[in-house]
Amino acid sequence: MLAPNTDAPVTILGAGIVGICTALSLLERGVPVTIIDKGPPGQETSMGNAGVVSPWSIIPQSLPGTWKSIPGLMFRGSRPLSIHPSVIFRMLPWGVRFLRQGPEEKVRASAEAMSHLCGPSIELYEKHLKGTGHETLITQSMYVHTFRDGSRANLDAIDYRIRSEMGADLELVGKDQLRRIEPALSPDFSAAILIKGQARIRSPGRLGTVLAEKARRMGATFHRKTIHDISRIDPKGWRVHCDDETFQTERIVLCMGAWSPGLLKKIGVSAPLMAERGYHVEFNEPGVEINNSIMDVDAKVVASSMEGGLRVAGQAEFAPVDAPPSERRKTQLMKVAQSAFPGLNTKDVNFWMGRRPSFPDSLPALGAVNDHPGLFVNFGHSHYGLMMSPRSGEIMARLICGENQNLPLDAYALDRF
Ligand SMILES: Cc1cc2nc3c(=O)[nH]c(=O)nc-3n(C[C@H](O)[C@H](O)[C@H](O)COP(=O)(O)OP(=O)(O)OC[C@H]3O[C@@H](n4cnc5c(N)ncnc54)[C@H](O)[C@@H]3O)c2cc1C
Repeated sequence: MLAPNTDAPVTILGAGIVGICTALSLLERGVPVTIIDKGPPGQETSMGNAGVVSPWSIIPQSLPGTWKSIPGLMFRGSRPLSIHPSVIFRMLPWGVRFLRQGPEEKVRASAEAMSHLCGPSIELYEKHLKGTGHETLITQSMYVHTFRDGSRANLDAIDYRIRSEMGADLELVGKDQLRRIEPALSPDFSAAILIKGQARIRSPGRLGTVLAEKARRMGATFHRKTIHDISRIDPKGWRVHCDDETFQTERIVLCMGAWSPGLLKKIGVSAPLMAERGYHVEFNEPGVEINNSIMDVDAKVVASSMEGGLRVAGQAEFAPVDAPPSERRKTQLMKVAQSAFPGLNTKDVNFWMGRRPSFPDSLPALGAVNDHPGLFVNFGHSHYGLMMSPRSGEIMARLICGENQNLPLDAYALDRF
């Protein structure tokens, strides 16, 4: 690994929310930053998510007994889970690793590692937004987990138990109280668990634009280029090969989300990451407003009132990263939305697909890459990238600048599998 240094320039590959937050934390320390992305900053996966910023989204996707729910998720109801035939062979080892994360002690270890990334998310976004004139992009909220079958709203279930033990303020409410909190919700929901002390972003796409603009004002240089490859320069440094230009740099931070493993493969480094694609439908003139982030636990979707309308986001589709979106998801999400919000006006909608960069343990790869001095990774934030990115950017900046982390980084090592 190269000696820590705040003067040597850093080139960030990928300007999603992870790349942007990494840039801000480096710029705060006076490090010169260049960012390369094929598109405008923050407009891929980071644009279409559900906007949840939660210090308490610390529960990984694989839980004890998750395997039992997989057939139902794939073949019943709104079928929120699907696996494209062309990725089945890559999916098998990923799935085995995923299910091996299910035992309670593994869930607790992941929850601990996730809590370090999610815990300070609200304060860090408030800090990043301060002085931009767009401070209200983040707003206080609860996360309301809603259940049609009230008997399933159980604070003793492992996911709520761990949250409580780690300090979350949770409350179980019945039908009437739920109606008072969220009058637009269908009366079919008979109970909810409220997770308090959260926030939500009112436009994740605009957040990316605003924070990238702040980074530019702080001195970052942005290049709109498609990156094809990276190669080592002896004795130190890297070349980043784009369409029509090659950039030289001393350090690289790879933040290309679901596209990162493709680039690493070219230098012989493997990463067991799948593109777990998700979708949203945004109702532009919804006619209803909701006050919090609401999860329909059965349908596995999250709804939130955004600047552009009411957004319903979710689904898990394991498929090639650049395969076209599946149109049937639009119909499914619209049905779920109509059943959850009976007063919804469904006339004018936007349909969107994004790629969660998912490792089997729901944690990102964050740190230096062994045997590749000057190469760092910060990708794989799966379902939690919006909320994890400010802290993971901070950790990356501390690592590059040689500051004390007060946090072991082994849980996030690229070679942990
Ligand atoms: C439906 C859905 C709902 C979600 N809801 C939430 C939520 O409520 N809260 C939450 O915390 N997280 C949520 N997430 C997850 C979150 O959106 C992601 O974890 C996060 O956006 C990942 O950010 P990123 O910067 O790693 O990736 P991206 O935003 O995908 O950024 C990667 C960047 O790399 C660039 N790139 C890729 N290849 C190249 C190349 N060859 N050359 C140049 N540039 C390249 C892309 O253009 C892109 O800008 C959700 C995700 C989905 C799909």
